Amino acid sequence: MNAVAWSKEELVAADSEFVIHSWSKQGGLNARPIKGAEGSWFWDYDGNRFLDFQSQLVNSNLGHQHPKLVQAIKDQADTMCYIGPGFAEEQRARLAQKLAEITPGDLKMSFFTTGGAAANENAIRLARHVTGRNKIVARYRSYHGATAGAIALTGDPRRWHAEPSMPGVVRMLDPYTYRCPAGHPSPCPVCSGGPHLEEILQFEDPYSVAAVILEPVTGTNGLIYPGENYLRSIREVCNKYGIILIFDEVMAGFGRTGELFACDHWGVTPDILITAKGLNSGYVPLGAMTVSSKISDWLQDNKFWGGLTYAGHPLACASAVASLEIMEEEGVVDNARRQGERLGAGLAELAKRHPSIGDIRGRGLFYGLELVRNRDTREPLVPFNAVGEAAKPMQEINKAAMAKGLYLASNFNVLRLTPPLVINDEEIDLALETLDEVLDIADVHYDT
Ligand code: PLP
Repeated sequence: MNAVAWSKEELVAADSEFVIHSWSKQGGLNARPIKGAEGSWFWDYDGNRFLDFQSQLVNSNLGHQHPKLVQAIKDQADTMCYIGPGFAEEQRARLAQKLAEITPGDLKMSFFTTGGAAANENAIRLARHVTGRNKIVARYRSYHGATAGAIALTGDPRRWHAEPSMPGVVRMLDPYTYRCPAGHPSPCPVCSGGPHLEEILQFEDPYSVAAVILEPVTGTNGLIYPGENYLRSIREVCNKYGIILIFDEVMAGFGRTGELFACDHWGVTPDILITAKGLNSGYVPLGAMTVSSKISDWLQDNKFWGGLTYAGHPLACASAVASLEIMEEEGVVDNARRQGERLGAGLAELAKRHPSIGDIRGRGLFYGLELVRNRDTREPLVPFNAVGEAAKPMQEINKAAMAKGLYLASNFNVLRLTPPLVINDEEIDLALETLDEVLDIADVHYDT
């Protein structure tokens, strides 16, 4: 420990002069100095407390400073902080074994990384090696991480600033039924998945495609839930052409949607499952790539061309083992489901009072509130990729919520409601009360 803790002023001065913050112009950023966090709350140096309705970056699923999780890290630090990935280490092996048990279908062996992007990088490289093919199909409304390959897979505008990027990515549209790119006749060929993919493959050569990667439930880019048959139809097309199906559950995995994995809602198993965030609630950086028995078998005779100094870091793996135990002991997935119902019911009530709520999408504690200027035209409250003045209404909502002690996030015109999975009734009700107040800001822009 530092002998003398910094004052708020010392922290702010050093942070603004020396720390580069993500996705931001650094001048005038004024990052809020945070002193502590516990459960679903965190607080600043002035004693202001905030209900963390984002779970930070949708990763603090077990809330902040869970005592058992903190203890597991301390215990592992006492035992062995680090040993190279080439050795067999107990926490790493325990975690891999546990993942083989709890992940769907025949998913079996795991490679551990330092986060979601690195896990996605390894997944596409492995898919290319296994199939001997090059192309990867990825969707527009997606985020897969900020490293070179992962940002190339990403469809959202953050990719633009990394271009020209990794070649071989082919883009597919999204099952965004609220704003269907095909005008949404039913059954829509885009929203139903398989037919749209099949069409793309005909033009790309299906036998040149190594993998399809998608978030079973789109997170950052708008909380988009697929229709009932979507994932199954994508699975069938992949099977038909020997294409590897990768599900990126970095955000949606580990109980977030009220099932252990989002794909469990539809009973569809990928060939490669990517997880991170909720795997250990972000207490130590960790991501995982878990592959099917077929790929595990392939790896017996073929080299895995991937590696990281911190692959399967013991502190991270120990925290994930503890995290999975806590989830079982405390019925965390059940709580996510139960509180999700409470949140969903509360949001439906809010929609009666706030015309700006155009669409409510969610299961478990993975909700999106799509705000519009008119329910009939569905004109978004702020346009796609809005900046400056155009982005203001959403910024004002987030700011007003923060001033009232509710930490929210948004992506363009969609408010993301993703609290810790350990949240309780009172905290959900408190958030709903604050939302009720700040949604007036959106209603002002409603075009009657
Ligand atoms: N995939 C998804 C679906 C994500 O939401 C994220 C991060 O938000 C990532 C990948 C990247 O994970 P990381 O930031 O740990 O590299």
